[in-house]
Amino acid sequence: MIGNIIIIIASIIGMEIFALYFHKHFMHGRGWNWHESHHVHTDGYFETNDLYAVCFSVIAAGLFISGSLFWMPLWYIALGFTIYGVLYGFVHDGLVHQRWPFYVTPKSRYLKRLVHAHRLHHHTTVKDGAVSFGFLYAEKPEKLKAILKSK
Ligand SMILES: [Zn+2]
Ligand SMILES: [Zn+2]
Repeated sequence: MIGNIIIIIASIIGMEIFALYFHKHFMHGRGWNWHESHHVHTDGYFETNDLYAVCFSVIAAGLFISGSLFWMPLWYIALGFTIYGVLYGFVHDGLVHQRWPFYVTPKSRYLKRLVHAHRLHHHTTVKDGAVSFGFLYAEKPEKLKAILKSK
């Protein structure tokens, strides 16, 4: 039981580290074609960038199936992966971009910092020069503003 909880927590932390690098080097790199729609104004509810979420959902489903068929720890990794997706959806799509049909206001200092940092990420509408690529971890907004100013 404890082993499985450790796997889940490690998987959530691992996903944040992966997401930070993936966002910085792939989405703002070769994958900009899809991600650009999230940095510029687009009409309608959906953005091409949402295809990333679809891809990750398919990967998660694949991990769940493989885990239950071949190796149970993989199933717990998939669970951590999915919990990360839910947290990402809450912070990024909910708190920051307000894509939900109801309004949520961040109350804790941690959540306010995440929202502020991600708004600073959106200061740029081009591939290069953005700051703050994490979703559950963010540097101090003052530091990010200083980096943006120096660019
Ligand atoms: Zn971005
Ligand atoms: Zn965003």
